[in-house]
Amino acid sequence: MPVATGILAPLALRNRLLWMVLASTTACAGATTAKSTNEPQYVPGHSYFGADNYIEYIAGDAPVILTAPHGGALNPASIPDRADVRCGGSATTTTDLNTVELVLAMQASYHARFGHYPHVVISHLSRRKLDANRTPPEATCGNADADSAYREWHAFIDVAKRAVLASTGKGWYMDVHGHGHAIQRLELGYLLDGSQLDASNAVLDAARAFADTSSVRTIARSSGASLSTLIRGPDALGTLFAGNGFPAVPSASDPGPKGAAYFSGGDDTRRHACGAEATAFGGATDGNICGVQIETNFTGVRDNATNRQRFGDISATVLERFLSTHWGLRLAAP
Ligand SMILES: [Zn+2]
Repeated sequence: MPVATGILAPLALRNRLLWMVLASTTACAGATTAKSTNEPQYVPGHSYFGADNYIEYIAGDAPVILTAPHGGALNPASIPDRADVRCGGSATTTTDLNTVELVLAMQASYHARFGHYPHVVISHLSRRKLDANRTPPEATCGNADADSAYREWHAFIDVAKRAVLASTGKGWYMDVHGHGHAIQRLELGYLLDGSQLDASNAVLDAARAFADTSSVRTIARSSGASLSTLIRGPDALGTLFAGNGFPAVPSASDPGPKGAAYFSGGDDTRRHACGAEATAFGGATDGNICGVQIETNFTGVRDNATNRQRFGDISATVLERFLSTHWGLRLAAP
C-alpha cells in the first residue's frame, strides 16, 4: 500500500489514506484489536490528517497513545456552533487551553527519553464545533462535517491501538485535558467518581465491581494488584506525579477529591481504555489497552513552553515506572 508522506501529502493522497483508515475501521467494527490486512503503513513521527485537516494523527512506534480532544482552535463557518438545544440538552464549549501544545511536549519528551514516538491524535476543531470526548448528538450536534471529523478521530485512535497491539500486545491510552477547577492538581480519571474515590482502600478493594468499572480493569486482573494500589499506591501514576512536583488526585497523599470538583473520565476513556463500558462504546472491555483521562491544571503545567516541557519530561519517567511495575511494559530503548 502507498506510504503517505506526512503533513504535505497531496489532498488526493490524504483522502485516499483517510478512506483506507475508515474502511479498515468499518471492516473491524466492534473489534478494535483486530489486525487489518490492508492497514496503511504509517511512519512514526509523521503527521496524517483527516478531511480539512480537522483531525491529526502523528504516528508512533511506542505502546503509548496520547489524545487531545479539547485544545483545537479551528472555527470553520461551515460548521454551526454547538448549542444546547441542538445537542440533546448539553454543550460545553470551553477550550482546554494549550493542551495541543502539551501533548506535543509530552511526545517530544518521550521521544527524547526512549527513542520512540508515542502515538498522538489531536482534534484541531474548536470545541464549539466538535466535542470529541462526547458521543453524538452532543459531540457534533448532527452536523455532517463534524460527524465526519468525529469518525476520523476514533478511526485514528483505533489505528494507533492496532499498531500498539501488533507490536507489543498491550499499551496505555491517555486522554489529555485541562481543567479550570480551583485546586491546582492533576485530576486522574479512572472512570471512578469522586464519592467512590473518597471511600477507603478497604472499601475500594472489597468489591470487584470498582476495578471492573475502572479504566485499568485488565491491569487489575492481570497484575493481581489491588485497585487502591494501582490508583494510589506507591507506584501509582498520581503518587509518582505528586512525588515529582505535580500534585495529583488520586494519589497516596491525596486519595480522593473529598467533595471538591473532579473529572472522573469521559467517553474517550470509556471507549478506548479497557473498562466495563468499553465494548458498548465501540472499544474492547478486557482489552489490552488500558488508560486514564488526565485533567491538568493550568499554572505550572501548560501555561508556558518551559513548564510543558518539564511536565512532559516527568510524564515520561512516571509512565516508565508505572507501566513497568504494573503492566509489564518496558518503555526504555533496547
Ligand atoms: Zn477537556
